[in-house]
Amino acid sequence: MKAGAIGPRWALVTAVLLLIAMPVSPGVHAATQSGTCFSDSSTSGLLSGRTIIVDPGHGGSDPGAVNTATDPDLVEKTLNLEISTILKDLLVADGARVCLTRTADETLSNADRYTFANAEGGDALVSIHLNSVSNADVDYTMTMWGKRSKDLALAQAVLTKLVSGLATFPDGEDSPIDSGRVAQFASGVLLKSNMPAIIVEAVFMSNTQEASYLADSTQGRETQIAQAVRDGLVAFFQQQGGSDGGGGKGNGKGGGKP
Ligand SMILES: [Zn+2]
Repeated sequence: MKAGAIGPRWALVTAVLLLIAMPVSPGVHAATQSGTCFSDSSTSGLLSGRTIIVDPGHGGSDPGAVNTATDPDLVEKTLNLEISTILKDLLVADGARVCLTRTADETLSNADRYTFANAEGGDALVSIHLNSVSNADVDYTMTMWGKRSKDLALAQAVLTKLVSGLATFPDGEDSPIDSGRVAQFASGVLLKSNMPAIIVEAVFMSNTQEASYLADSTQGRETQIAQAVRDGLVAFFQQQGGSDGGGGKGNGKGGGKP
């Protein structure tokens, strides 16, 4: 019976070791298959004819920021996917073809993300993130660009809409956001994608007020973020398209804008 006393423990240890060992071989680079594109051929609108890549930041083994002061913990990868899914629906309703780099909790490398974006021929790429810092009072909105000539106009167009769209919470409370920042960031996702590409650090999920709204998606903060990014994309394409509105570069037929 001595053996019996330690037997279950060894069985447990073996099972744990197997669980640790198994995910290493499959999985890690199955990634470009995870991307999925969405469109609605019965819908036309301001973004008809555009392909937009929406990239939910982090995922799988990379949680991104975690706010452990909330109950339950807020995890960035999960919020990024929620916001990206709402954004996808808004953009599809505007007539766009929208490609999500991931639709589930999956690990993606930067190469997976830009390879997918380039293969799908995106007209713009938006990578969705939430910011975090140790001081729980800090909150502002930010967009980041990689190559000035390719990305900066998109970063500025989206930032303008984030600042105005996030200044109040959905219930009308003043939010801590009263300004925005635009910054350069040498991310492979931005530098190696062939289209205007930005990272959105929408709000600080480490901020106490933001966290309390983000913790309950029915309060609508995620929707506000998605709506602001959508508005920024529309403004960007309107700038790019000039007076015909929908053509953009290289599409002489116009994008189907009424
Ligand atoms: Zn992030």
